[in-house]
Amino acid sequence: MELLAAVDVGGTTVKAAVYERGSWTRRARLRRPTARGADPGVAVAEQVEAVVGELAEAGPITAAGVVVPGVVDEAAGIARFSANLGWRDAPLRELLAERLPMPVAFGHDVTAGGLAEHRFGAARGFADAAFVPVGTGIAAALLLGGRPHRAAGHAGELGHLDVGHSRRCGCGSTGCLEAIASAGAIARRYTEQSGRPVTGAREVLAAEAAGDAVAREVVEDAVVALAAGLRALVTLLAPQAVVLGGGLFEAGGLLERVDRRLGESLVFQRRPVLRRAELGDEAGCLGAGLLAAQLLGPAVSA
Ligand SMILES: [Zn+2]
Repeated sequence: MELLAAVDVGGTTVKAAVYERGSWTRRARLRRPTARGADPGVAVAEQVEAVVGELAEAGPITAAGVVVPGVVDEAAGIARFSANLGWRDAPLRELLAERLPMPVAFGHDVTAGGLAEHRFGAARGFADAAFVPVGTGIAAALLLGGRPHRAAGHAGELGHLDVGHSRRCGCGSTGCLEAIASAGAIARRYTEQSGRPVTGAREVLAAEAAGDAVAREVVEDAVVALAAGLRALVTLLAPQAVVLGGGLFEAGGLLERVDRRLGESLVFQRRPVLRRAELGDEAGCLGAGLLAAQLLGPAVSA
């Protein structure tokens, strides 16, 4: 049985696991706060080396998959940009290959999550699908004709579609979807308008359910904006399914509200199936494992 190490490097947490290739049984997992350093690419590569070393206690590792956020050019092996991790043009694949004693696949976290949802989760059976995690930001993994559409890491920036409002986005532009509809934006806007601090967007959803008028307005703005963003996605690429990820969609009927609003806004466009992601925060890790398996080519057995 071949073992694959999978590492999902996030802005705050590194999630890692060991999977059996073929059965995808998880043999080990661990989490660590993401390392910081003067050279952020080197700091992360050194941490991945240590994490894979720990994972190897589960048995000899045949290949590793490592995924990172931001703009990622997999073909070149370079992490172009991540505001959270603070790197620009970090040669991650090379930094990892120098440190890990096994073949390493390097990829993009959201794309890997989309691959995992397509293989094991809510996008199963759809050749044209979008995986849209809504968290601190909003991005999309695009699967077109059964293949990820990457454009050297520049495609899928759904969070920066202009949905027509005047708020400033972290990217420097105004009107961006994620500046009004990300989980972070929902929590921030609620606190600004109500004066009440909250721990996250789910608390705003709970406040809305309890009859809070400010929460109602903030959540409704997010629903309208998400539907507008998805309308553009549907008009341009016509995915058969859109898989929405993030804790926000696990409660409160938010997905159904976005679905209804989107349905009302479509005229001739094919209406996609909207689904909740099924793999939760393991999607990126499973996707990293899939990339490691792809690197090895077809399995000899199973
Ligand atoms: Zn933006």
